[in-house]
Amino acid sequence: MTVVVVKIAAPTALALVSGSPSPSASASGLTSTAPSPSPSASPAPGILPTTPAAAPGFDKTRYSLDDPTSLWVVVNKQRAIAGAADFVPPNLEAIPAEMKNPFGQSLRTDTVDALAAMFAADKTEAGTTLIAQSGYRSYSTQVSSYQYYVNQDGVAGADQTSARPGFSEHQTGLAIDILDTTSGCTTDYPCFGKSTSGQWLAANAYRFGFILRYPADKTAVTGYEYEPWHFRYVGTALATEMHAKGVETLEEFFGLPAAPGYAG
Ligand SMILES: [Zn+2]
Repeated sequence: MTVVVVKIAAPTALALVSGSPSPSASASGLTSTAPSPSPSASPAPGILPTTPAAAPGFDKTRYSLDDPTSLWVVVNKQRAIAGAADFVPPNLEAIPAEMKNPFGQSLRTDTVDALAAMFAADKTEAGTTLIAQSGYRSYSTQVSSYQYYVNQDGVAGADQTSARPGFSEHQTGLAIDILDTTSGCTTDYPCFGKSTSGQWLAANAYRFGFILRYPADKTAVTGYEYEPWHFRYVGTALATEMHAKGVETLEEFFGLPAAPGYAG
């Protein structure tokens, strides 16, 4: 039954079977007792008139995937931040010092609020203390960082370690690298993923609107090795939907091309 209800919730079917048919449907004699013309909603026409209106399906077009101020912006090695050289996110705010912010990091206000709730829940539920390791990074910071690695390792080596300027999710103010005070893990190795904090975050971040952006088995999709410390704020609606559907990456959820590397 649940499956049937979900199918009926598709916007096109809903318009045809709901209690208030459109004028054109009425004019053509399509009443609520008529068999539905929609194949997806037709297996049991008898139940249609009494099926309660289900919640509409998740609207994947609600927010822009391209606007760098959008909660759902998708940044990867194929999708640079639009106008990156001049882009600074709105409403940047320092992460409160009481949240363990040793490097004075900032994020968007909405992301700080969600992060505070997640850090508090981690303390209560996992018993650990999380650290905000790295949040917003400016374009010029990314230029310096990338150039440092190019000088040290060449372009190919740098691309393994650092995002190119304009391609870092950290510039949106929506991404945060998280460590903790007890595991001894760093952002150099996947150790954090096995820690109490890392496992709690992987399982619970969605409740606060965050996703683990670079899962272990999705390098071919995201272009990044497993980063158990890197979380991206997308809001609870999207994070919860992705969790419920078992879809781990933004690329897969929105049907975007995989981004294993840079175009040139
Ligand atoms: Zn990161």
